[in-house]
Amino acid sequence: MPCLAIARFWHEGNSFSPVPTDLKSFAYEWYIGQEAPAIYRGTGTEIGGAVAFLEAHPEWHGTFLRLAGANPAGPLPRDTYETILAEILAGLRDGTWDAVFLSLHGAMVVEDMDLADYEIIRRVRAVIGPDIPLGVSFDLHANLDPRIAGLVNFAAGYKEHPHIDMNETALRVLDVLDRTVRGVLHPVGHIAKIDAILPSINMRTAEGPMAELEAFARALEFDPRILDVSPFGGFSYGDSTAAGAGAMVFADADAALAQSAAERVVAEMRHRLDRFYITLPNAADGIAQALASAVTPVAVVDAGDNPLSGGIADTPEMLRALFAAQPTVPVVFAFFADPDLVRRCVAAGEGAPIAGTLGGRISTSFGAPVPFSGRVLKITDGKYVNRGPVMQGLPMALGTTALIAVDTIRIIVTTECGSAHDPAFLDLHDIDMREVAVLCVKAKNHFRAAFRDICPVMIDIDAPGPAALDIASFPFRRAPPTLRPLRDARR
Ligand SMILES: [Zn+2]
Repeated sequence: MPCLAIARFWHEGNSFSPVPTDLKSFAYEWYIGQEAPAIYRGTGTEIGGAVAFLEAHPEWHGTFLRLAGANPAGPLPRDTYETILAEILAGLRDGTWDAVFLSLHGAMVVEDMDLADYEIIRRVRAVIGPDIPLGVSFDLHANLDPRIAGLVNFAAGYKEHPHIDMNETALRVLDVLDRTVRGVLHPVGHIAKIDAILPSINMRTAEGPMAELEAFARALEFDPRILDVSPFGGFSYGDSTAAGAGAMVFADADAALAQSAAERVVAEMRHRLDRFYITLPNAADGIAQALASAVTPVAVVDAGDNPLSGGIADTPEMLRALFAAQPTVPVVFAFFADPDLVRRCVAAGEGAPIAGTLGGRISTSFGAPVPFSGRVLKITDGKYVNRGPVMQGLPMALGTTALIAVDTIRIIVTTECGSAHDPAFLDLHDIDMREVAVLCVKAKNHFRAAFRDICPVMIDIDAPGPAALDIASFPFRRAPPTLRPLRDARR
């Protein structure tokens, strides 16, 4: 019976977030061994895909090594990285394997270290030796070092943004690994890069330049010798020497074909480069547009503090603009992470008055705290299960949360910095979107997967935050200064 090792070390690192990603952050997703199938079965995740693969292929015996995932945030301290990686490597040393599957993001950042994902793959390869097929799945926002193509037997990235195909991506990798072990395929890959860091706001695969690139990639896959074509938008706020977008292609026993196909995707990307760089209204203008909309509900989306881009659920400018606009219609604000405020709300109790400040708690570099006075509407345990298409079925835990009312505005405050991309996040707080005129949300494209059917109008805004739109305003140290838009800012 062939043996498959499965490990996951998934993190999107925002080099400019003031919140580090320590071991506690990985409580978000921290599983091992036979608890994994029960947790992940049927979920829209890579490990959900691995469980499905094993159940469809009873001839394979799967072993779940450390499965670790954390919400996007700041760099991992070096000891956190080494601790988790050491556990995965020890698990690999303890067994005899016919294939290894790694679920990585591809844009992890580690303090005082460059190229964290490359180093994971390099060390895994060193442990398993040159002959065991190694397959890796990546996020569409991976910042890939081209040498990775030579270390793995096969890899593939998500093709959808919002990422509703994590499960399918793992299945694609595992299918090719299976056929590689059986000697049917001899995959060989190439990664080509473009000299640009792209903003991800206009990188959705439903429309616009990324949709065209994905269509081009699918067309290349009509060639039966081509096993996978993955365009990568890259992660805008991951500072590494591998920063920037690109494309990865694997072909069956044909390195020249993989290279030429990857370079063709990058050439198509270059043609469309200008269209990725867009401008957005500021918070005050976006909220004014929303309050003037005849069609509701309207979502005002602050991508600069999107937790799934390394946001901290703490930047205050959207709330400040909302208070200044003095809305008279029902508004929901999602959300701030503030454990002390939640504790005070719990102590005060539902229905009690509460006052203080919101935002600017972790850092005032994105704006000063906003004073408020309201009352506690509701306390929750912060637990729900995603019901939208992104990471569907995965249980979420925000810690205790509070819903605070300030005039017509209801504000969600959480203990942990989670993400508001799933409607179940609002269900938890008894929010019925049919009764809401404006939803102000710290989110970005993943939010659209479920909410495009709920909010007929969506207004993306740009406000100060760890994931603000102006990439060149961030203090990159490792990314080559020749990359657009860094090179333009230097002029
Ligand atoms: Zn992503």
